[in-house]
Amino acid sequence: GAKSNDEVVDPFFLVCSSACWNGICLAAMDITKNHTTRKVHSDVGMRVADYPTIQDYVGECLIDTNASRSYVYLAAKALDDLTNNCDWSAHTEIAHLPRTGILNWLWQVKFFSSKTVTHVVDKMLHACGGTGYKPALGIERLLRDGKAGWVMGPTNEVLRQFVGKSALLGFEVLDYWNQSVNQRVLSNELKKMSKEEKAAFATKLLAEAQA
Ligand SMILES: Cc1cc2nc3c(=O)[nH]c(=O)nc-3n(C[C@H](O)[C@H](O)[C@H](O)COP(=O)(O)OP(=O)(O)OC[C@H]3O[C@@H](n4cnc5c(N)ncnc54)[C@H](O)[C@@H]3O)c2cc1C
Repeated sequence: GAKSNDEVVDPFFLVCSSACWNGICLAAMDITKNHTTRKVHSDVGMRVADYPTIQDYVGECLIDTNASRSYVYLAAKALDDLTNNCDWSAHTEIAHLPRTGILNWLWQVKFFSSKTVTHVVDKMLHACGGTGYKPALGIERLLRDGKAGWVMGPTNEVLRQFVGKSALLGFEVLDYWNQSVNQRVLSNELKKMSKEEKAAFATKLLAEAQA
C-alpha cells in the first residue's frame, strides 16, 4: 500500500484536511468577532473587542491563519501543476508517481495547519471567556474538531521528526515505511553482547536464514 498511500491517500488527505483546519480557524474568528463586538462590560462601557489583549489575539491568529492558507494554496497549486490539473489518464505506468515527489512538503503543510488551528481555537476560546464553554456559541465544537488535526495520523510528533530527520540525514535514510535496517543501532547493540550471547544469537539467525 505504500505507493498508493504516498501518491493518492496522503496527498489528498494532507492538503484537503489542512484546508478544513484553516476553515475552522476562520470560523472561530468569525464567532469571536461576533461575540466580542456585541458583549459590553457596562461598568466601564467597553466592548470585549475594545481591549487590546483581544485585538492582539485576533491579529496574531489572523496572521497565522493567512500564512497557513497560503501554504495550502501553494501545495494545491504544486499538485495541480505536477498532474496537469489532476489528470488521472497520465497514470498508465505504476512508476508514474508525480505527487509522491513532494510528500515531504505536504507533511509540512499538514503540520503547520493543524498546529495553527490548535493555537487559534485555544486563543478564540480565551477571547470569548467563559461564554466560550456554552455549546450555543459554537467555539467549543470548533475547539474539539480543530485539535483533532494534531493527533490525526501522521501525528504532528511523527511529522516533525520525519521532516527534521530527512533535513539532517537525507530523505533516503528516513525509512518511513520501516523497510531498511539501521546498521548503527544494530552494531551498537551487538557490541554489548558477550561472546556466548553472540554465538547464541548467530545460531538463531542462521536457523532463521535457513528456514
Ligand atoms: C479525528 C480523527 C480521525 C481519524 N481518522 C482516521 C482514518 O480515517 N483512518 C485511519 O486509519 N485512522 C484514523 N485516525 C486514527 C489516527 O491515524 C491515529 O489516531 C494516529 O495515527 C495516532 O495513533 P494512535 O491514536 O494509536 O496514537 P499513538 O500512536 O499511541 O500515539 C500516542 C503518542 O505517541 C506519539 N507517537 C507515536 N508514534 C511515534 C513515533 N514514531 N515518534 C514519535 N512520537 C510518536 C504520538 O504522536 C502521540 O503523541 C483518526 C484519528 C482522529 C483523531
